Amino acid sequence: MPLAKPQDLFERAFREGWALGAFNTSNLEVTQAIVRAHVEARAPGIVQTSEGAIRYAGLTTLRDLIRDVADEASVPIVLHLDHGKSFDVASHCIEAGYTSVMIDGSALPLAENIALTRRVVERARAVGVWVEGEVGAIPGKEGLRGSGVGVADSLLTDPDDAARFVRETGVDALAVSVGTIHGAFRGTERIRFERLEAVHRAVSVPLVLHGGSGLPAEEIRRAVGLGVAKVNIDTELREAFHDALTAHREDEPDHAVDPRAMLTPARDAVQRTVAEKVSLLGAAGKAESSTG
Ligand SMILES: [Zn+2]
Repeated sequence: MPLAKPQDLFERAFREGWALGAFNTSNLEVTQAIVRAHVEARAPGIVQTSEGAIRYAGLTTLRDLIRDVADEASVPIVLHLDHGKSFDVASHCIEAGYTSVMIDGSALPLAENIALTRRVVERARAVGVWVEGEVGAIPGKEGLRGSGVGVADSLLTDPDDAARFVRETGVDALAVSVGTIHGAFRGTERIRFERLEAVHRAVSVPLVLHGGSGLPAEEIRRAVGLGVAKVNIDTELREAFHDALTAHREDEPDHAVDPRAMLTPARDAVQRTVAEKVSLLGAAGKAESSTG
């Protein structure tokens, strides 16, 4: 079906207490894996591309690829920009047909973050595109493995800032810093539930959890009951892809020169990982009553 608008999906997820998985891609195999897992689970979902993925594959190439794969699918698939850092990037994606964009001004002073986000909301609203903003800093780097201590309190989302941000920008969803770290973090990464609850009480919009890779399943489930309606997963897909590719090269050196033979097990491994997350988030079976 055509790329889905997220409005109805978020409204239902938020109200019914499940979450949309948002999975990063930059190529054909990962895109197919994400979409196939959602079709099998009869789940709606979000395919997202970072600025880095857009640089890697090209905006229209990546857009066409995801749109074509989604077109073939019988479940709603949203195309989302992950961590757009400028008005121009968000605007280009909106023009290209993305149905959802994130504008990440979290490194700016709050007033500048509000001004930037409001500008993107005005641009997006005119064409019915969903906008995710961010207040508070989510540390780490997408796709990297890290370790160490948890997130400093000063980086966590302040509930008063969040309330002002949502009120003054009109943003549709809010990415929050509540203890998670980008990348697969081995250490003391834990969701700060008291902070998540405070932010959830302070704002009325659905919350977005970034850095979902490596978190214990029970923590993710609990967060979904506290206003989190979108969970971003990137690193665990990369790990599944990498590990399957590496194992294949060791098992079958004779076939290693055929890209299809190399990439098929990697694609299957990513699909299994996505399927686990979709089930964990409670999105399985939610495609049917969606209007898409
Ligand atoms: Zn993120």
